[in-house]
Amino acid sequence: MTNRRRFLYGMGAMAGTGALAALGACATPGDRRQGHVVVVGGGFAGATLARHLRLWSSGAVAVTLVERNPTFLSCPLSNRVIGGQIALGALTLDYQRLYRAWGIGIRFDDVAGIDTDRRRIILAGGDALAYDRLALAPGIDFLPSEIPGLAGQELTFPHAWKAGPQTALLRDQIADLPDGGVVALHIPRAPYRCPPGPYERACLIADFLKRHKSRAKLLVLDANPEIQSKRDFFQHHFATLYGGVMEYRPNSELRQVDAASRTLHLDFDNVQADVANVIPPHRAGRVVDLIGAPLINKRWVEVDWPSLAVRGFEHIHCLGDAVFPAPGMPKSAHLANQQGKLLAATLLQALGDPKVLPTRVLVNTCYSFVDARRAGHIATVYRFDEGRRTFLPVPGAGGISAIASEEEGRLATAWAHNIWTDTLG
Ligand SMILES: Cc1cc2nc3c(=O)[nH]c(=O)nc-3n(C[C@H](O)[C@H](O)[C@H](O)COP(=O)(O)OP(=O)(O)OC[C@H]3O[C@@H](n4cnc5c(N)ncnc54)[C@H](O)[C@@H]3O)c2cc1C
Repeated sequence: MTNRRRFLYGMGAMAGTGALAALGACATPGDRRQGHVVVVGGGFAGATLARHLRLWSSGAVAVTLVERNPTFLSCPLSNRVIGGQIALGALTLDYQRLYRAWGIGIRFDDVAGIDTDRRRIILAGGDALAYDRLALAPGIDFLPSEIPGLAGQELTFPHAWKAGPQTALLRDQIADLPDGGVVALHIPRAPYRCPPGPYERACLIADFLKRHKSRAKLLVLDANPEIQSKRDFFQHHFATLYGGVMEYRPNSELRQVDAASRTLHLDFDNVQADVANVIPPHRAGRVVDLIGAPLINKRWVEVDWPSLAVRGFEHIHCLGDAVFPAPGMPKSAHLANQQGKLLAATLLQALGDPKVLPTRVLVNTCYSFVDARRAGHIATVYRFDEGRRTFLPVPGAGGISAIASEEEGRLATAWAHNIWTDTLG
């Protein structure tokens, strides 16, 4: 990527060069420069944080967002692409409004180093950005090497667990499946991102097979002992809609794969598939290793709630899927967005702009489609517990749909459009 590309949106305001020019990248006329926050990762967590820092400070805080991808691709609704219901283009959004409407400096780059003593990050392209506060929102990275044979075999065993080319690949492989063929979907041990996501995917693949390849079969191979979210809801729809086409097998830990024969070696079984969707185990995005962040279970970043400060690092915060969650908190876009707002308010207070008080209540809502039109939801409310210094679910404050409906299908689509707007402006 050329320098010109990397400065795509920051260019206009980047008069002057050098490390401190990064501040200029975020400046708007009348900017009071109350501080400079660098956010790494422009997903649901990082983009929400960047936008709300600007919105709630009325432009007083300078913000630079570092994102390695030139466009935003939404995982929510991406299972519908795999089910042949919508196109990937419908989930592809751009970052322009973050710059044009909100004055956020965007650097399309990766991070090569973080100097915590001098408070600056070094981009892969060589530039350095000084920060008052750094927020790491890198989402997840995969650990394919934990399953012998899997590393480097993404074309044979697509995960499609980050929306993009993998999503299109899995969709195409399923579309090309011979009638009478076998699709295997392997779910890793929890915690993984989006607990209901694999079961929604199972429904939408089964829906596609039922309509287009009626002799084909879907095997859902779950490393967990049972369905991890909306259990009764999914059990009901697996049985009533897809009894003939889908088989659900719990306790199916994946021990090894063989790419040549597309075989999955499980704890108690071997499965040879025509299409094998293997979701590898995952961990916090690797950029967190650059500060030597303490990882819980060697995977997730330990933070203090509610400040989301990385344990042991006063000026560095982490949010979204990369974080070791509070009890019962799933890794979801909705909570990544909520954490973005929580941290925006927290940072504004720390930078001397206490207009917005950090909320002590977080909400999660997650819809799942079971076919082309019908969906159901799960909703949970979390409140900060002073004694335990963490967020806890509020008993009785949430709910789960018993059965999917077309009305909830419409709400699910509306939810996605709302959260994209709330995240990207
Ligand atoms: C199939 C599927 C369906 C889902 N459906 C839902 C749903 O319906 N509802 C819901 O709430 N959640 C859903 N989720 C979960 C949701 O997508 C994630 O929880 C959410 O994306 C987490 O947000 P994040 O910002 O932490 O990570 P991400 O959205 O993954 O964003 C991280 C960003 O950081 C960037 N990045 C990483 N490292 C670097 C680096 N070193 N330098 C520069 N940039 C970097 C990445 O390019 C990426 O843009 C679904 C997930 C999947 C896989």
